[in-house]
Amino acid sequence: MFLNILTKGRCCSRNKRTFPCGKILQDHASKIKNNIILMGSPGCGKTTVGRILATALGRPVLDIDDDHLEPHWGMPVAQKLDEVGSDGFVEAEGQALTALRADNCVVSLTGSNPMHDAGMSHVTRTGTVVFLDVHMTDILERLERMKVNRIVGQNDGTDMADILKYRQQFYEKWYDTRVICERNESPQSIADKVIARLRKADAKEGYVSTRGLHMGNKGFNDVLLQGLAPDGGLIVPQNEFPKMSLGQLARLVDLSYPERAVRILEQWIDHRDLHPEVLKSAINKAYNKETFESDTICPVRHLEGDQFIQELFHGPTASFKDVALQLMPQLFMNAVIEGKSSQKYLILVATSGDTGGAVLDGFTRHARNSRAKTGLLILYPLNGISDIQRDQMISYNSDIARVVGVSGSDFDFCQTNVKKVFGDEDLAQKLQHEHSLRISAANSISWGRLLPQVVYHVTSYLDLVKQKVINLGDEIDLCVPTGNFGNILAAYYAKGMGVPFKKLICASNTNNVVTDFITSGCYDITSRRLLQTISPAIDILVSSNLERLLYSISDNDSSITSNAFTQLRDRRKFEVPMHILENIRNTFHADWCSEEDCAKSMRKTLKTSDYLLDPHTSVAKAVADGFKSERPMVIAATAHPGKFAHDVLKIFGSATNKMAPTEMLHALGNISARPAVHQSLLNTLKKQTGERIVCDASYDSVIKQIECFVDKI
Ligand SMILES: *Cc1c(COP(=O)(O)O)cnc(C)c1O
Repeated sequence: MFLNILTKGRCCSRNKRTFPCGKILQDHASKIKNNIILMGSPGCGKTTVGRILATALGRPVLDIDDDHLEPHWGMPVAQKLDEVGSDGFVEAEGQALTALRADNCVVSLTGSNPMHDAGMSHVTRTGTVVFLDVHMTDILERLERMKVNRIVGQNDGTDMADILKYRQQFYEKWYDTRVICERNESPQSIADKVIARLRKADAKEGYVSTRGLHMGNKGFNDVLLQGLAPDGGLIVPQNEFPKMSLGQLARLVDLSYPERAVRILEQWIDHRDLHPEVLKSAINKAYNKETFESDTICPVRHLEGDQFIQELFHGPTASFKDVALQLMPQLFMNAVIEGKSSQKYLILVATSGDTGGAVLDGFTRHARNSRAKTGLLILYPLNGISDIQRDQMISYNSDIARVVGVSGSDFDFCQTNVKKVFGDEDLAQKLQHEHSLRISAANSISWGRLLPQVVYHVTSYLDLVKQKVINLGDEIDLCVPTGNFGNILAAYYAKGMGVPFKKLICASNTNNVVTDFITSGCYDITSRRLLQTISPAIDILVSSNLERLLYSISDNDSSITSNAFTQLRDRRKFEVPMHILENIRNTFHADWCSEEDCAKSMRKTLKTSDYLLDPHTSVAKAVADGFKSERPMVIAATAHPGKFAHDVLKIFGSATNKMAPTEMLHALGNISARPAVHQSLLNTLKKQTGERIVCDASYDSVIKQIECFVDKI
């Protein structure tokens, strides 16, 4: 058996492709042939899997070693190697690859083909490159078993494992779709996975509205730009959830957050919509030392007993919204460039504090230098958010971002008027006609914001496995402070993928409409008023993403969903059928806590665990304590306490009236070192230089704000 493993340092990546770059996708979109191209390490099973696939699909198989290189050179591969030496071999082999003319075949590449750029540029255009991602230990064992004793590149004493590791970067660079193989998986089973993956891509059923409208041939990028479906529903994929087996999840346990994110999101996004290479580059820019203050991005820590806390607040603006909004703007800008590039966008956001900051940071950091022109207009209730949240947001005022406080208004007013702008056809036409500009959203109804959240729920489970708290396959519970239902819905999607979450627990404050709904099946806001609490991000009457849950849990029954939400609009209440309620209650549990209990739970947690919770997380902790769990439970910490320093300090009896925001953060740090003072929040507040822009609470004033800003975009 001959295996062409070559020396390190021979082939480095020339013309490295960059992001964002429309050209990449065009390359990948313009496949000129229909081969299935298997790629991966020597010993990963390409040849055997290739034969099985070819038989199953009724296609010819073409092994690059035997069926292409030998005839092309007119000599055995080993002889060629002797002739050109190991240094010249990759070049010779790559050159030969550029002469490949096969179509409709199953092609098994050699292990070293991916090290040649020109050869691979050619071959990737002839079909779909499938990366058989096999665990390194399995490969080493197989090579051992096959008694591979002649390895090119080992003559300088390089360890086989090092050579294989070095090769990985080339496989990572060229694949269209990755098949994560389980440990010791049989070739037949791997071939089945490949077929399932290709079938799924072929079916490409696209996206639908929860109210029934099919989105036609709109792909991931269109859906990102669109926001809401035209029938008023939320957009979801039509295919069922992508699944990951426990064996596949096991492969992610030892990986970093970005590496896990790539593998999880690839399952959800067709490579023809968003190529893995583009996705990977965006993920690496989103989750790193510059953006997150924790090496592990969303670390899971022990709290007490069987309770663990996942800290989702290490991003630049100190709430969990950063996790989605460091990634989503990059995907959004890529979608703009993929589409009509002269189109400008205005992202219009109503915020009760946390979304605004995260949108501003995400877009300013990652979209500023993009070719696509996009502006941000953020509306917040002038006196309805914390001073720290306000100072944080206005520090982002810039040529592309405008943060406006609406005087005499509350969040509901801002939200309602933003929705009115989205529905204003005359305005839309005028903006398109005069400015080539469309208005778009970045709130949690956006599919592009929901998806990145699935990742951290999967990783919380993997982290517990890694910490040996549980064995892979054991069930855990999860408790989330819930407002718009985005965060917990993402957990439901993670469960749908195969992550063993048992109960998903929604925690509310005194605005407990979701608790009532999950208890009774009746969503009723006829006599509810929004109550102001110290956990403002979950002060909510209409929990938008519940619509996506209802759709999924009723087996994608758009008539049930559509009825429910039409009734909610017209009569301010709806009730779901008993069997739907049962389905919901099989997975979900809900409870709420009073303001007083929230404060109590914060004090108690400091005492028992020396840990300072923010008010939202404290709501979740209070609810978690009231739930009799028989399993380990993760509590989602959605914000850093520093963001709500004023209220938190008050709960601990400190007078804050003379304190500057930065002093408040330090004062919190003195109460407990867990979690550490949020440095990026501190720095933002230190250099606060933003201008305060105010407008009054009328639709006309909001429109005026839009009109005077669009000129600048
Ligand atoms: C936005 C937010 C929530 C609510 O999240 P949903 O996805 O809307 O349920 C909870 N806590 C904090 C701190 C938030 O900023």
